[in-house]
Amino acid sequence: MTPRPLLLVALLGAAFTTSAFAESDLETINRIRNEGLYHSQVMTMLQHLTDRIGPRLTGSPEMQQASAWTVEQLKAWGLSNVHLEGFDFGRGWSYDNAHAQLLHPRKAPLMGLPVAWTPGSNGVIEGDVVFVDAVTEAELEKYRGKIAGKIVLLSEPEDIGEPNSEIFERYSSDDLGKMKSLDLKSPASHAHEAPDSIAQNRKRLAFREAVGAFLKQENAKAALYRSSRDGGLIRVFGHDHRAGKTFPVPALILSSEHYQLLQRLVEKGETPRVALDINARFHDEDTKSYNTIAEIPGTDKNPEIVMIGAHLDSWHASSGGVDNAAGVAVTMEAMRILKKLDVKPKRTIRIGLWSGEEQGLYGSRAYVEQHLATRPNPTDPAERDLTPWYWNSPGWPITKKPDYDRFSVYFNMDNGSGKFRGIYTEGNVAVKPLFSEWFSPQSDLSEGTINTNTTDGTDHESFDDVGLPGFQFLQDPLDYMPRLHHTHVDSFDHVLPDDMRQAAVVMATFVYEAAMAESRVPRKPMPTAPSELEQQQEQEKAKKRQRDKERKALSELPK
Ligand SMILES: [Zn+2]
Repeated sequence: MTPRPLLLVALLGAAFTTSAFAESDLETINRIRNEGLYHSQVMTMLQHLTDRIGPRLTGSPEMQQASAWTVEQLKAWGLSNVHLEGFDFGRGWSYDNAHAQLLHPRKAPLMGLPVAWTPGSNGVIEGDVVFVDAVTEAELEKYRGKIAGKIVLLSEPEDIGEPNSEIFERYSSDDLGKMKSLDLKSPASHAHEAPDSIAQNRKRLAFREAVGAFLKQENAKAALYRSSRDGGLIRVFGHDHRAGKTFPVPALILSSEHYQLLQRLVEKGETPRVALDINARFHDEDTKSYNTIAEIPGTDKNPEIVMIGAHLDSWHASSGGVDNAAGVAVTMEAMRILKKLDVKPKRTIRIGLWSGEEQGLYGSRAYVEQHLATRPNPTDPAERDLTPWYWNSPGWPITKKPDYDRFSVYFNMDNGSGKFRGIYTEGNVAVKPLFSEWFSPQSDLSEGTINTNTTDGTDHESFDDVGLPGFQFLQDPLDYMPRLHHTHVDSFDHVLPDDMRQAAVVMATFVYEAAMAESRVPRKPMPTAPSELEQQQEQEKAKKRQRDKERKALSELPK
């Protein structure tokens, strides 16, 4: 080896380091920090969204109110092109209150909240409780003629047992260190994910539909489900929101302890009697739901686009503090900071506040489809009949729209209110030097861990799925999963202001740097349809996972 190439490498390295910041004006980073850390409005926004507007279920009047408020707010700051973009969703639904009471064999209040998209009770209804022990349509038949006028228990009973997770967690430097390596078992991209659960999901959803039809035919009065968290936490979900598919009888999710009480009474041969009063309704005036879009226009001729976003919708159990008013407030705050500093970005900086995330990334998928790229729906009609959340065979090929080539990057926030300890790159290693540079002035605020693995379950996926750079930050987990995720206590109280300010500063820095960078954020190779061999391998893997699951179930049988 001659010294010559080495020298060249060193020179290139130096050139790269200086050029990464050449056009970004490091002084702007100081100004972002000053505004975001010491003149923050992030908690004021959060409080309005949670305490004043409240739950924001997709399609509900509260969600409409929230959308209108975001438009008003973004306009008031002077952002450009502020508007709502509609997409087809389905029925709206809302509720005011729900009461449940045990009447027999003793009197006691029961804590519960309605399943979204189930009808109200039209006043107080009373009935004896029956456990419908069925997981197949054949098993349902055993209850024919036996549930008229009854209130049915539909969840599998389950022992609560020992608590097995920490309530609150921050990543240690050790945890973060481990996240720097590629996990070869994690999928390379969302577009290629082929979960083995499709058949199971389809079975489960078809069965849910069959249960609804059965309860209706048999004149059952109402259905009760068990919360999937214990300790009194009511963790909600929704039935199908599409017209013609909604669940036909009133349904409540009871706290785990209260559900199990009814279950045990039934097992002991008692006939518990319960009264319910659920004030809920459907809204069919508007079957669309809406994303909020606004921007700071780029100064380049025909500017490229950089984007940040978060989902504005929430579940109905609580005011959706960490899921995801936190993400909305941080993302809006990042826009506010940049507008306040009157930055003149080369690329257009755009914000997207999505709706319908909780039901299957509807809003961000619709945005991508309307502006960036389309792909055919699944060819299997049975799969197409599921909500998109359960589509596991996205169609090929991906067809680009005009903005596809002008699009640089999307940054998302939706993993609770924990501060940004780094970022996931979804298998894209070409972004590592850029992201490290962008984190470096903030190294006193964030370790800037670059995790090259994928992370899923939220709106950056919609971009990654069509081969565009879409990223979710790596956030401290805090008490998101154990206590708050979709539960009735996800409120303003659990959002930590210091973490929120930190996240807003990092978000604003990243989108500003992306808007000023010399070139577009590098992409992964365009996703293509999996080969026959890859499909075969996926099926093999799925079979093995299923076998392991069954083996595990066997070993857990009582000895
Ligand atoms: Zn969320």
